[in-house]
Amino acid sequence: AHEEAMAARSKDNLRSPICCILGHVDTGKTKLLDKIRQTNVQEGEAGGITQQIGATYFPVEALQKKTAVVNKDGSFVFNVPGLLVIDTPGHESFTNLRSRGSSLCNIAILVVDIMHGLEPQTLESMRLLRERKTPFIVALNKIDRLFGWSRIDNNGFEDSLAFQKKSVQQEFKDRWDFVHTQLMEQGFNSELFYQNTNMARYVSVVPTSAHTGEGIPDMLKLIIKLTQERMTGKLMYLSEVECTVLEVKVIEGLGTTIDVVLSNGVLHEGDRIVLCGNPEPIATNIRALLTPAEMKELRVKSAYVHNKEVKAAMGIKIAADGLDSAIAGSRLLVVGPDDDEEDLMDEVMGDLAHLMGKVSKTGRGVSVQASTLGSLEALLEFLRVSKIPVASISIGPVYKKDVLRAGVMLEKAKEYAVMLCFDVKVDKDAKQYADEIGVKIFEADIIYHLFDKFTAHMKQLEEQRKEESKMDAVFPCVLSPIAVFNKKDPIVVGVDVIEGNLRMLTPICALKKNPVTGVKEIVHLGRVTSIERDHKQIPICKKGQPSVAVKIEGPNQPLYGRQLEEKDILYSSITRKSIDTLKEFYRSDVSNDEWQLIIKLKKEFDIM
Ligand code: GDP
Repeated sequence: AHEEAMAARSKDNLRSPICCILGHVDTGKTKLLDKIRQTNVQEGEAGGITQQIGATYFPVEALQKKTAVVNKDGSFVFNVPGLLVIDTPGHESFTNLRSRGSSLCNIAILVVDIMHGLEPQTLESMRLLRERKTPFIVALNKIDRLFGWSRIDNNGFEDSLAFQKKSVQQEFKDRWDFVHTQLMEQGFNSELFYQNTNMARYVSVVPTSAHTGEGIPDMLKLIIKLTQERMTGKLMYLSEVECTVLEVKVIEGLGTTIDVVLSNGVLHEGDRIVLCGNPEPIATNIRALLTPAEMKELRVKSAYVHNKEVKAAMGIKIAADGLDSAIAGSRLLVVGPDDDEEDLMDEVMGDLAHLMGKVSKTGRGVSVQASTLGSLEALLEFLRVSKIPVASISIGPVYKKDVLRAGVMLEKAKEYAVMLCFDVKVDKDAKQYADEIGVKIFEADIIYHLFDKFTAHMKQLEEQRKEESKMDAVFPCVLSPIAVFNKKDPIVVGVDVIEGNLRMLTPICALKKNPVTGVKEIVHLGRVTSIERDHKQIPICKKGQPSVAVKIEGPNQPLYGRQLEEKDILYSSITRKSIDTLKEFYRSDVSNDEWQLIIKLKKEFDIM
């Protein structure tokens, strides 16, 4: 009796966990959501499932019904009052459900297509889940696509699998083994949910079909089990309000509203609230706390029901004045009787300031723009790990002023005149302006795609610089003349390469002591435009190879017999700049012997 009383009390004090669905596109996230929301009207099974703003609420009665097929003896006990599932699947809403760097999403379902295994966005989702330390299960979806699968609608998975032909069971096993290995490669140990003895160590994997509903009872039970076992501490009901802005939306007749998830505490009509705005904090009073009207109520004028108060966990729309500049992802705080409004403003703005503090101190770096505070935070963390410096950040759509800000880098550090935009719209004028001034805008809705694009950009710039520097790269060589075939325009000489390698386009010179002053002078002959042996063009002549005829062209060529003599040794004309260019772009192309030769020539040419 005592235990029952304890259970009852703790149950009263628990709030509903908040669940997000993540995964690669087309794995069936939306379909799964639809399937669990689906109610069986004939059997009167609605059970109070309610559509909220941005979320669906499943009261415990509905969960009990939906999991009955895998809880026939009723031995699994529900302690939570219900489950709140966020309606927008994907990592955008997951990253946004945050508070001071921790996640408000208590548990996540990572959907993987059993026919495809892990895909790029699966990896991205896993990275985010790891970063936010969010417990998750894997739904291995589309099991009905296994060849020859016989469906038993809405059945428990184990039972359905036992019912399959041997070949189907074998295909399942093979595909699951494959995903198991893939997960291992990402550093996650996993087990099929009914074989998992340690939920803290192994990720539970539940095979599902969003089409037949198989495995979905297991999935719901598993989520509740995981939250109850692993995080009752986090689910304790608190009087303190914990609330996050998911979206800022203009609604006809209501003005700018915010859709929020209230994850803890109670909100009342009329409450004084504070949230993060751009650039100023917002303090205002709740004019209306709105939830969607039920279908039958839709005949009445408004699509919304007004609530005097709402209790966590809950998805609601808030109407109030002054919400125009609200930032998605902002925390929402309630000003209590003992609170100082200014302090709370500092606190909410602190989230933005904290991110501002992450920009590079050198003032050199890329510009970063994201849809919400949460996605910006995730992106900045990723760029930090990837060692890409960030000079400025912004939230919301990209406008011309943002391009202007990024354009500052065109002067400072051209390679960083780049905007990395995550999950945001780019205004047409802004795009055009960026093209005009040479700011690159990279857009992606997967964070690491931005990294790939940026890395490709850097590589391309380097290739370009290498290409541009080609004429400055002078490989060293020393040539001993045999005969002069043409004295000028162009100069054609027969030579032996006695040091280094002679390449096309190498600038050639002779070193002459001025007979009057005794000072060493460099006489430039021009560049090598042809290397020929036995009347055949060759691209390179290496030290010790048979002699070649070399054509040298250039402006103001010296004349053999005047500024030059036929016996003069010829050199590749190296300079400080040519040496630096080799070091920067061609290090791997220069042999040890060639570096030695460069050092020797540096002395001859008096290069410091
Ligand atoms: P999302 O992009 O992850 O939200 O994927 P959707 O829910 O839109 O599903 C993508 C496609 O896969 C749609 O054509 C669905 O009908 C299909 N699909 C989703 N779940 C299943 C499933 O369990 N079995 C089969 N056969 N198809 C599915």
